[in-house]
Amino acid sequence: MMDGATIVAIATPPGEGGIGVVRLSGDDAAAIARRVFRQGHGDRPPALRSNRSHRLIYGRVIDPTTDEPIDEALLAWMAAPHTYTREDTVELSCHGGAVPVRETLRVLLAAGARHAEPGEFTLRAFLNGRLDLMQAEAVLNVVGARTTEGLRLAVADLGGELGQRLRPARDLLVGLLAYLDAAADFPDDEIPPTDVVPEIAAADAVLVEVLAGARAGMLYREGAQVTLVGRPNVGKSSLLNALLRAERAIVTPVPGTTRDIIAETVNLGGFGFPVTLLDTAGIAETVDLVERLGIDRSRRAIDAAVAAVLVLDGSVPPGSDDLTVATMLAARGDRANAPPAVVIAINKRDLLSVDQAVVVDLLPGCPVVEIAATSGMGIPALEAALAGQLSGEGAGQARPALITARQRAALDRSLEHLRDAVATHATGHPLDLLATDIRAALRAIGEVTGEAIDDAVLTEIFARFCIGK
Ligand code: GDP
Repeated sequence: MMDGATIVAIATPPGEGGIGVVRLSGDDAAAIARRVFRQGHGDRPPALRSNRSHRLIYGRVIDPTTDEPIDEALLAWMAAPHTYTREDTVELSCHGGAVPVRETLRVLLAAGARHAEPGEFTLRAFLNGRLDLMQAEAVLNVVGARTTEGLRLAVADLGGELGQRLRPARDLLVGLLAYLDAAADFPDDEIPPTDVVPEIAAADAVLVEVLAGARAGMLYREGAQVTLVGRPNVGKSSLLNALLRAERAIVTPVPGTTRDIIAETVNLGGFGFPVTLLDTAGIAETVDLVERLGIDRSRRAIDAAVAAVLVLDGSVPPGSDDLTVATMLAARGDRANAPPAVVIAINKRDLLSVDQAVVVDLLPGCPVVEIAATSGMGIPALEAALAGQLSGEGAGQARPALITARQRAALDRSLEHLRDAVATHATGHPLDLLATDIRAALRAIGEVTGEAIDDAVLTEIFARFCIGK
């Protein structure tokens, strides 16, 4: 995976900016940088290795084949191991234009560096042991964070939070395995019996908690779609405006949306994750609602939405159109084999109110909020109810975890092995079969943490049981 090459890449985004940074990492970083850099206004290369690390040196990037200057630049010299990759690193900060940065890259390549692969600096940080696998994956979440809360979670993972959350499960299983291996290898020795089932259950609970947090974490990374549904004139457009008003500064239109469905991505106050609001108002405006709601586009919008707000007009008695929409939402819940994530908003509460119970009863368990879209009354309560629905029951309690699909699959697999282990134990199978299940569960956790499990197990065995003395 590592060829020993010194790698180079442009570290700043393309286009014009204040500065453009080109980064070099590897054993030859200093030597390569010296070939293309002249210190101060003179023609001497900087003495990097004898210089103190983590200092800036002013000078010029030159093309060594012509001695022509390419750009004025600052060179940052960072000696291993206190660098991102744990290798010698040089960063050249040029003027932030496409050409100076590209030319600097070109002379560095000519001077012996290899173009870095995507993610290769972080890969090296992992391979060199500066980051574990989870922290390396968290780097992507930091860069891709779409909300402040998403960033906070990713930075926590960068500090090793996911690892810390999984550690209790890992430690329990390593201990259990150590016991099982010892009991199998030394059946005659006095090894105190351990009741394995509570230990497995405790590890199981840790994984379940992280996986529950992953559901909430998914929202922070990917965001959620919320569809506003209801018959014409109940106030969906007004509600969309009311929800957007608070967040106007960060409203961004979603590309590719049609005129019929208005979508806006907002970072609503209470959520902390990006929410795309879909206003289906255009769909049902003109013709008979039942027919119009049947059209693919609206159904797709409702299906794609993580959650929906059913908007009712609280000032008039509910009609058959309201019932049709509510029935559609209830059916959506049945299909997903879970209660629909719907909040019922009874709008126009500034007017004379009429009982909406007949509609509300179609969606048992869904929170009901009274609002007045035009005045903004009840909007914060609606946001809070939506946040509750989006976070989901279990995930509401669990701390959100930003985990990738790969990590999730590995943890799911680990859980399966743990449940196999309990089944194996229940059927009275020998301990070494149980150990096989536990080992598989540990390996799956190790796929998330990137640990070399078998070494760890061996270490634990020797540390705890002092076998072999
Ligand atoms: P939509 O067809 O569901 O998108 O409904 P609109 O948002 O276009 O609203 C329909 C009508 O109801 C408009 O005349 C709005 O001004 C009015 N409306 C919306 N919300 C309220 C409210 O909270 N109070 C009152 N009094 N009128 C409202």
